[in-house]
Amino acid sequence: MRLYVDIDDVLAETTRRILRLANRRFGTRLTFEELGSFDLGVALGLDASGVHELFAEVNAPGFLDRLPTRRGARPALRAWAAAGHAVSVVTGRPPYTRELTAAWLARRRVPHDSLLIVDKYGRFPDAPRRDALRGLHFDAALEDSLETAAFLLEIGVERVFLFDRPWNRETGALPPARLARIRRVSGWRELAPELRALGEGDRTGLPAFASALR
Ligand SMILES: [Mg+2]
Repeated sequence: MRLYVDIDDVLAETTRRILRLANRRFGTRLTFEELGSFDLGVALGLDASGVHELFAEVNAPGFLDRLPTRRGARPALRAWAAAGHAVSVVTGRPPYTRELTAAWLARRRVPHDSLLIVDKYGRFPDAPRRDALRGLHFDAALEDSLETAAFLLEIGVERVFLFDRPWNRETGALPPARLARIRRVSGWRELAPELRALGEGDRTGLPAFASALR
Protein backbone atom coordinates (compact mmCIF):
# COMPACT_ATOMS: atom_id res chain seq x y z
CA MET A 1 0.00 0.00 0.00
CA ARG A 2 1.09 3.52 -0.65
CA LEU A 3 0.77 6.27 1.94
CA TYR A 4 0.80 10.00 1.18
CA VAL A 5 2.23 12.02 4.07
CA ASP A 6 2.23 15.81 4.18
CA ILE A 7 5.12 17.47 6.03
CA ASP A 8 4.08 20.72 7.64
CA ASP A 9 1.77 20.25 10.62
CA VAL A 10 1.56 16.51 9.94
CA LEU A 11 5.16 15.23 10.12
CA ALA A 12 6.68 18.44 11.42
CA GLU A 13 5.53 20.86 14.11
CA THR A 14 5.71 23.79 11.73
CA THR A 15 3.06 26.41 12.33
CA ARG A 16 3.61 26.68 16.09
CA ARG A 17 7.23 27.57 15.27
CA ILE A 18 6.30 30.03 12.51
CA LEU A 19 3.84 31.71 14.84
CA ARG A 20 6.49 32.08 17.53
CA LEU A 21 8.83 33.66 14.97
CA ALA A 22 6.10 35.93 13.56
CA ASN A 23 4.95 37.15 16.97
CA ARG A 24 8.53 38.05 17.78
CA ARG A 25 9.16 39.69 14.41
CA PHE A 26 5.95 41.72 14.14
CA GLY A 27 5.11 42.28 17.78
CA THR A 28 1.84 40.34 17.45
CA ARG A 29 0.35 38.11 20.13
CA LEU A 30 -1.65 35.65 18.10
CA THR A 31 -2.12 32.23 19.70
CA PHE A 32 -2.13 28.91 17.86
CA GLU A 33 -5.81 28.33 18.62
CA GLU A 34 -6.65 31.68 17.01
CA LEU A 35 -5.29 30.57 13.63
CA GLY A 36 -8.63 30.26 11.90
CA SER A 37 -7.17 30.70 8.42
CA PHE A 38 -4.83 28.40 6.50
CA ASP A 39 -3.21 31.57 5.18
CA LEU A 40 -0.85 32.80 7.89
CA GLY A 41 -0.53 36.23 6.31
CA VAL A 42 -4.29 36.69 6.65
CA ALA A 43 -4.33 35.32 10.20
CA LEU A 44 -1.52 37.67 11.26
CA GLY A 45 -2.88 40.65 9.34
CA LEU A 46 0.36 41.04 7.33
CA ASP A 47 0.71 42.90 4.06
CA ALA A 48 2.51 41.33 1.07
CA SER A 49 5.95 42.53 2.13
CA GLY A 50 5.42 41.23 5.68
CA VAL A 51 4.44 37.82 4.30
CA HIS A 52 7.47 37.84 2.00
CA GLU A 53 9.81 38.75 4.88
CA LEU A 54 8.38 36.06 7.14
CA PHE A 55 8.52 33.25 4.59
CA ALA A 56 11.99 34.18 3.37
CA GLU A 57 13.13 33.46 6.92
CA VAL A 58 10.97 30.35 7.31
CA ASN A 59 12.12 28.71 4.06
CA ALA A 60 15.80 29.09 4.83
CA PRO A 61 18.48 27.20 6.73
CA GLY A 62 18.13 27.82 10.44
CA PHE A 63 14.38 27.36 10.43
CA LEU A 64 13.08 24.53 8.21
CA ASP A 65 15.98 22.28 9.11
CA ARG A 66 15.40 22.79 12.82
CA LEU A 67 11.73 21.86 12.97
CA PRO A 68 10.85 19.06 15.38
CA THR A 69 8.90 16.03 14.17
CA ARG A 70 5.45 15.64 15.67
CA ARG A 71 5.23 13.18 18.53
CA GLY A 72 4.46 9.65 17.39
CA ALA A 73 5.11 10.27 13.69
CA ARG A 74 8.27 8.24 13.31
CA PRO A 75 7.22 5.07 15.19
CA ALA A 76 3.95 4.96 13.23
CA LEU A 77 5.74 5.35 9.89
CA ARG A 78 8.42 2.85 10.89
CA ALA A 79 5.73 0.27 11.63
CA TRP A 80 4.02 1.01 8.31
CA ALA A 81 7.29 0.66 6.38
CA ALA A 82 8.28 -2.48 8.31
CA ALA A 83 4.98 -4.06 7.19
CA GLY A 84 6.20 -3.64 3.61
CA HIS A 85 4.26 -0.52 2.64
CA ALA A 86 5.48 2.61 0.88
CA VAL A 87 5.67 6.17 2.23
CA SER A 88 5.57 9.13 -0.16
CA VAL A 89 6.24 12.45 1.49
CA VAL A 90 4.29 15.12 -0.42
CA THR A 91 4.77 18.79 0.37
CA GLY A 92 3.50 22.12 -0.97
CA ARG A 93 6.68 23.92 0.09
CA PRO A 94 8.50 26.08 -2.50
CA PRO A 95 10.58 23.94 -4.89
CA TYR A 96 13.83 25.64 -3.83
CA THR A 97 13.48 24.11 -0.35
CA ARG A 98 13.91 20.57 -1.73
CA GLU A 99 17.47 20.13 -0.53
CA LEU A 100 16.77 21.45 2.95
CA THR A 101 13.67 19.29 3.18
CA ALA A 102 15.43 16.14 1.99
CA ALA A 103 18.25 16.74 4.47
CA TRP A 104 15.72 17.22 7.28
CA LEU A 105 13.94 13.94 6.43
CA ALA A 106 17.27 12.11 6.40
CA ARG A 107 18.58 13.64 9.60
CA ARG A 108 15.31 13.06 11.46
CA ARG A 109 15.25 9.50 10.13
CA VAL A 110 11.73 9.76 8.76
CA PRO A 111 11.07 6.54 6.83
CA HIS A 112 10.12 7.41 3.25
CA ASP A 113 10.53 6.17 -0.32
CA SER A 114 10.09 9.46 -2.13
CA LEU A 115 9.79 13.19 -1.64
CA LEU A 116 7.40 15.02 -3.95
CA ILE A 117 7.03 18.78 -4.16
CA VAL A 118 3.73 19.77 -5.74
CA ASP A 119 2.01 23.11 -6.06
CA LYS A 120 -0.87 22.25 -3.69
CA TYR A 121 -2.06 25.82 -3.27
CA GLY A 122 -1.33 27.49 -6.61
CA ARG A 123 1.68 29.41 -5.26
CA PHE A 124 4.64 28.17 -7.29
CA PRO A 125 4.46 28.04 -11.09
CA ASP A 126 7.81 26.20 -11.21
CA ALA A 127 6.45 23.17 -9.30
CA PRO A 128 4.27 20.38 -10.74
CA ARG A 129 0.53 21.07 -10.36
CA ARG A 130 -1.34 19.03 -7.76
CA ASP A 131 -3.04 17.24 -10.67
CA ALA A 132 0.28 15.37 -10.98
CA LEU A 133 -0.91 13.37 -7.94
CA ARG A 134 -3.79 11.82 -9.92
CA GLY A 135 -1.78 8.99 -11.41
CA LEU A 136 0.07 8.02 -8.25
CA HIS A 137 -2.68 5.84 -6.71
CA PHE A 138 -2.24 6.48 -3.02
CA ASP A 139 -4.20 4.12 -0.77
CA ALA A 140 -4.26 6.49 2.19
CA ALA A 141 -3.29 10.09 2.89
CA LEU A 142 -2.40 12.25 5.89
CA GLU A 143 -3.06 16.00 5.55
CA ASP A 144 -3.87 19.09 7.60
CA SER A 145 -5.24 21.12 4.67
CA LEU A 146 -8.98 20.53 4.31
CA GLU A 147 -8.89 21.68 0.69
CA THR A 148 -6.13 19.21 -0.20
CA ALA A 149 -7.86 16.44 1.75
CA ALA A 150 -11.00 17.02 -0.35
CA PHE A 151 -8.92 16.99 -3.53
CA LEU A 152 -7.33 13.67 -2.55
CA LEU A 153 -10.77 12.12 -2.10
CA GLU A 154 -11.75 13.47 -5.48
CA ILE A 155 -8.81 11.74 -7.17
CA GLY A 156 -9.73 8.42 -5.59
CA VAL A 157 -7.65 8.10 -2.41
CA GLU A 158 -9.74 5.69 -0.31
CA ARG A 159 -8.68 6.72 3.18
CA VAL A 160 -8.00 10.37 3.92
CA PHE A 161 -7.02 11.40 7.44
CA LEU A 162 -7.12 15.06 8.46
CA PHE A 163 -4.95 16.16 11.35
CA ASP A 164 -7.08 18.45 13.48
CA ARG A 165 -5.72 22.02 13.45
CA PRO A 166 -7.50 25.33 14.11
CA TRP A 167 -7.48 26.28 10.41
CA ASN A 168 -9.29 23.17 9.20
CA ARG A 169 -12.28 23.25 11.57
CA GLU A 170 -14.43 25.52 9.42
CA THR A 171 -15.81 22.95 7.01
CA GLY A 172 -18.81 24.86 5.64
CA ALA A 173 -17.79 24.86 1.98
CA LEU A 174 -17.43 21.09 1.77
CA PRO A 175 -20.40 18.90 0.73
CA PRO A 176 -21.48 16.80 3.78
CA ALA A 177 -21.10 13.53 1.86
CA ARG A 178 -17.48 14.33 1.12
CA LEU A 179 -16.79 15.61 4.62
CA ALA A 180 -18.14 12.36 6.08
CA ARG A 181 -15.41 10.46 4.23
CA ILE A 182 -12.60 12.46 5.83
CA ARG A 183 -11.42 10.99 9.12
CA ARG A 184 -10.33 13.71 11.54
CA VAL A 185 -7.64 12.67 14.03
CA SER A 186 -6.15 14.64 16.90
CA GLY A 187 -2.63 13.42 16.15
CA TRP A 188 -0.38 10.43 15.56
CA ARG A 189 -1.38 8.70 18.80
CA GLU A 190 -4.96 8.46 17.59
CA LEU A 191 -3.91 7.66 14.02
CA ALA A 192 -1.36 4.91 14.78
CA PRO A 193 -3.82 2.05 15.54
CA GLU A 194 -5.89 2.92 12.45
CA LEU A 195 -2.80 2.96 10.29
CA ARG A 196 -1.70 -0.38 11.75
CA ALA A 197 -5.12 -1.93 11.07
CA LEU A 198 -5.05 -0.60 7.53
CA GLY A 199 -1.60 -2.06 6.90
CA GLU A 200 -2.48 -5.40 8.45
CA GLY A 201 -5.79 -5.55 6.61
CA ASP A 202 -3.84 -5.43 3.41
CA ARG A 203 -1.48 -8.18 4.55
CA THR A 204 -4.30 -10.53 5.61
CA GLY A 205 -5.58 -10.18 2.07
CA LEU A 206 -2.32 -11.49 0.66
CA PRO A 207 -2.50 -15.26 1.44
CA ALA A 208 -5.83 -15.61 -0.38
CA PHE A 209 -4.37 -13.83 -3.36
CA ALA A 210 -1.21 -15.99 -3.28
CA SER A 211 -3.20 -19.23 -3.09
CA ALA A 212 -5.36 -18.12 -5.99
CA LEU A 213 -2.19 -17.90 -8.05
CA ARG A 214 -1.16 -21.50 -7.40
MG1 LIG B 1 0.57 20.72 5.94
